[in-house]
Amino acid sequence: MAACFLPETLPDFSGELSRFESLAYPELCYEFLRVFATDIPADELRAIVQRSYATFSHPEIAPLRRLSSRLHVMELWHGPTLAFKDFALQLLGNLYERQCAQRKETINVLGATSGDTGAAAIHGLLGKPGTAVFILYPDGRVSPLQERQMTCTGADNVFALAIDGTFDDAQHALKEIFGDQEFRTRLRLSAVNSINLARVLAQCVYYLHAFLRLPAAERENVEFVVPTGNFGNVLAGWLLQQMGVPIRGFKVATNQNDILYRLFTTGEYRVGEVRPSLAPSMDIQVASNFERFLYFSVGRDPARVREIMHAFKTTGEFTFPNFDRGTFSASRCTDAEIPGIIQRVYRDYNYVIDPHTACAFQSIDPERTSIVLSTASPAKFPETIANAIGVDATHPSLEALKSRPLVNHRLKADAAAIRAFVEAHAVA
Ligand SMILES: *Cc1c(COP(=O)(O)O)cnc(C)c1O
Repeated sequence: MAACFLPETLPDFSGELSRFESLAYPELCYEFLRVFATDIPADELRAIVQRSYATFSHPEIAPLRRLSSRLHVMELWHGPTLAFKDFALQLLGNLYERQCAQRKETINVLGATSGDTGAAAIHGLLGKPGTAVFILYPDGRVSPLQERQMTCTGADNVFALAIDGTFDDAQHALKEIFGDQEFRTRLRLSAVNSINLARVLAQCVYYLHAFLRLPAAERENVEFVVPTGNFGNVLAGWLLQQMGVPIRGFKVATNQNDILYRLFTTGEYRVGEVRPSLAPSMDIQVASNFERFLYFSVGRDPARVREIMHAFKTTGEFTFPNFDRGTFSASRCTDAEIPGIIQRVYRDYNYVIDPHTACAFQSIDPERTSIVLSTASPAKFPETIANAIGVDATHPSLEALKSRPLVNHRLKADAAAIRAFVEAHAVA
């Protein structure tokens, strides 16, 4: 389950919804995942799911808050690193642990991050027997709190590698290392990128949970508004819709890096330069998960997907003739707009949102029931919040980090140096 690209056929949950209504989050998650994870015995899968969400600090796991008669926020930041990536990576960590035990093998997980993914991957694996995790991040270019989440764990199977270079340099080195078949096999290397199907499936569950929490009358017209970078989160919602859950639509909400906004409004897919923003986890131009959506949208024709991606990779653009945007709409939010949106939401609803969530509040359709996905706790971005509304956003888990020692390893953005480090510290 952890490695495949897409399921051949999608299950249909339309007949199960009334049975699912009364289930608490972990039970619902188990019922959903067991359809895909047929290789894991039921009691084991149930225990893995329970363990994965027991680390969340809110009893509802993904609580839905009503801000007004038609507007809801789903808070996806009650996991250990205070951002939505914990939903997938807490589960993935436990699946990796099981795989190790099952095969009597160890694994070494290697990834690069510009912030949230690395912290979530580390917290998914920390202290897990049989695993080591190496996360590359650009030195000086992740937020101080994100860096603390990666470097103050105290776990001896965690290696936070501060790379002398940019995120792209780190990605580049990683690609080279994963391209070395001998090294990859010998060290049993695994990746944590957002292409991983288990990650996407774990994220389907909170859409289902939120949908089922709505009163029946509100369900019919519901649009999920999703702060989007790599298209992983919104893809999960869309896949769930394809599985017979009658969600009316999705809004792809980008920051100023707006390739997906342009695609969904004009049919033109064209790369631009990444401009660092106040919502850094959405600072992406080419969304790797978009290829999966494409596969379905061209009638599951892999040859056509290859053709389009090839044209796109060689010229940097592709225009879809008669682009069918299906049930997607899109919005874009510039950096100049973010503080004003944080102010407005605070004034109107007495509710504090982080800059990624702010992008989703850019344009809410008042005619619809909207569920905004709140992807990070405002406490992860205290400066932006203080500048916008003068509120001191804090969270006890982040405060606790400030008194712990920071342990990282500085390395050149060079595949050979990174490979040597991994070789020396890998779990045997
Ligand atoms: C990763 C991330 C996003 C973007 O999610 P995608 O799945 O890449 O679209 C949005 N907000 C936060 C806080 C994130 O960490």
